[in-house]
Amino acid sequence: MPGTIDYSRITIVPDFDTAEWWMGTKQHKYLVRQCKSCGHKWFPPFPACNKCTSMDLTWFETAGKGVIHSYIVVTQPILSAFIETVPYVVALIELDDCHETDGALVRVAGVLLDDEEAVAMGLPVEVVFQQTNEPNIVIPRWKICGTAENTWKFVE
Ligand SMILES: [Zn+2]
Repeated sequence: MPGTIDYSRITIVPDFDTAEWWMGTKQHKYLVRQCKSCGHKWFPPFPACNKCTSMDLTWFETAGKGVIHSYIVVTQPILSAFIETVPYVVALIELDDCHETDGALVRVAGVLLDDEEAVAMGLPVEVVFQQTNEPNIVIPRWKICGTAENTWKFVE
């Protein structure tokens, strides 16, 4: 398991586009943006639909489950908060219950609680909400929650 993130060394300040999303994580909800006009869903949130340009938006609450589409292993801490955390895995996760209007699964990036040795593309993951030292900031992390028949990982 990766080391802990020292949240006292970073400050997360929700902005206009993310404030409601951070309120969701505090309630242990994993939200993605959804366009009211065409139904398109995406993450991270930004102020207009990139399919139809509508600014009439809402949130879609996902079940917080998905499959690892790809991943990287971070070995160099770019911020001091991650000095004790490396190495850790950042995965691109396809959400099980969240499709774009063309049927493609919505992908989100997430930091895993699992080590590199346990990770492979195709494995199922679920979100875990982690409280930071700031009472209003709860961070979603991801953990492997099962097995799969068709997995793949790079082996040197
Ligand atoms: Zn739209």
